[in-house]
Amino acid sequence: MPGLHMHMSARQHATYGTKLPEMSQAEHCTMVIFGATGDLTKRKLFPALYQLAAEHLLAPGFAVLAVGRESSLTDETFRTKMREALGESDEVKKVDDSVWQEFEKRIFFVGGDATDAAAYEGIKKKLDEIESECAPETRNRFFYLAVPPSVFEPIVRLLSSSGLVPRIDDPKQRPWARVVVEKPFGRSLATAHALNQLVLSLFAEHQVYRIDHFLGKETVQNVLVLRFANSIFEPLWNRRWVSHVEITAAETVGVEARGKYYEEAGVVRDMFQNHLLQLLALTAMEPPYSMTADAVRDEKVKVIRSIRWLSPETIPEVAVRAQYAAGTVKGEKVPGYRDEPDVSKDSQTPTYAAVRFFVDNWRWKGVPFFVRSGKRMPKRVSEIAVHFQAPPHLMFGGNGVGRDLEPNVLVMRVQPNEGVSLNFEVKVPGAAVALTQNIEVAPVDMDFAYAEAFGETAAPAYETLLLDVMIGEMTLFTRSDEVEAAWRLIDPLLDYWASHPADPMPTYPAGSWGPKEADKLIGKMNGGWRKP
Ligand code: NDP
Repeated sequence: MPGLHMHMSARQHATYGTKLPEMSQAEHCTMVIFGATGDLTKRKLFPALYQLAAEHLLAPGFAVLAVGRESSLTDETFRTKMREALGESDEVKKVDDSVWQEFEKRIFFVGGDATDAAAYEGIKKKLDEIESECAPETRNRFFYLAVPPSVFEPIVRLLSSSGLVPRIDDPKQRPWARVVVEKPFGRSLATAHALNQLVLSLFAEHQVYRIDHFLGKETVQNVLVLRFANSIFEPLWNRRWVSHVEITAAETVGVEARGKYYEEAGVVRDMFQNHLLQLLALTAMEPPYSMTADAVRDEKVKVIRSIRWLSPETIPEVAVRAQYAAGTVKGEKVPGYRDEPDVSKDSQTPTYAAVRFFVDNWRWKGVPFFVRSGKRMPKRVSEIAVHFQAPPHLMFGGNGVGRDLEPNVLVMRVQPNEGVSLNFEVKVPGAAVALTQNIEVAPVDMDFAYAEAFGETAAPAYETLLLDVMIGEMTLFTRSDEVEAAWRLIDPLLDYWASHPADPMPTYPAGSWGPKEADKLIGKMNGGWRKP
């Protein structure tokens, strides 16, 4: 069994069958979910909670109080709804009825509108009853805002004024009260800053867990292990040996039924400000002095701040936007973005973007980071590809090889098939070409797949993240200054595109790897975009 000794979350210890360190045990607590009848609760939160229950990772006094506006629901009917949702979930392979029957006893529902102060008396009363029954000694609580971002603000105000979440300055104080905020955190630097100011006027930073679920993914955490727990990569991890880095987050889906949401968001807000900049930060950051939350987050903030500003003069050269046109994805004909429901016929919302970033610091000066994301691509894949410099002199080249040698590429696959592969050149076996100057050379892959090495696929991100909230482990959550640093970088791009409508908007056929403008951006010199 390979041994991972990075700050492993309790979820990972369970997955890999290692002993749980004492600090990783979840404390007794109650989780209060606002937005309990929504999509996220059904598709992500309950499957994750069920899995944690099945793996005995929840504290015995753990309970869930779901809050929703559908006041006709009861504990019983809500439990039934969640049981049905588990059956439909891709993330739960098989529901064990004995686990569910024990777990459902700890699920409760209370009707109420979380944006209305009048609801809070009912929530408090129910919470009091649950805590008295399940964990009378502790009364630790966390409040999960699985609601649209437009209601984050009134809810955090009410959590504070109702006394449900008091400000607690000392992280060691018990009972604790935490607030988990979903993405997107703001829709610009100004709105993110205002939300941070509000939240931090009510609570201490250590009480606020800002979710970026990409950070809960195994390979994302593995980027740090790969870089800093091995001595072979880090000496090469700089401008001397790396020619460029490609970061891709491709989806095969279009906007589905969420056209209205997507028109407001677009690919830059949806993917770049959060997930892609997090991947870039983990790839480019300096080694933290320890794996504590603040040490890691300090380094991430530093590197995001050293990314070159996207000025209005440079944006046309370094950034490309596009929308998918009609096409074929996985053998199925699909409409173009502007023909999707709830999408304007002259929409300017990009479904694809590619940006060339530079990290202006000692390590990375001059190394381009090509970052792209799009909907309706041929394949669902998220990965980081580090391209190394070509060897300085090719004595096999010209006659023997008959092609340019491919530089080495280290690929960290975030999803699916989480793993790492390294591409390098080898001699083709056989004596067909006997003369050494004519050796035949071919590229091969050395591949590590989590599923093969550890016997199962990586844990869904929400399991890792929920357990971390219960433990008080904040490394995988974004801090206020980090969120703002990311918005500060992205804002000029959003402003520029908003004030310079594309006419015509570049398009790419659904099922292709993006517009031709993006090919120009990366250039032939860099070998074009990878086709993962
Ligand atoms: P939904 O649109 O499904 O809404 C969630 C719930 O919020 C609703 O069911 C409703 O619950 C409650 N709600 C909606 N409007 C109001 C309102 N005005 N006042 C009070 N409550 C309201 O959203 P999702 O579940 O898809 O997303 C929830 C959050 O998670 C969002 O911030 C989203 O960006 C984020 N997110 C979602 C993902 C997903 O896969 N769905 C992925 C990543 C992030 P009720 O009627 O019971 O009160």
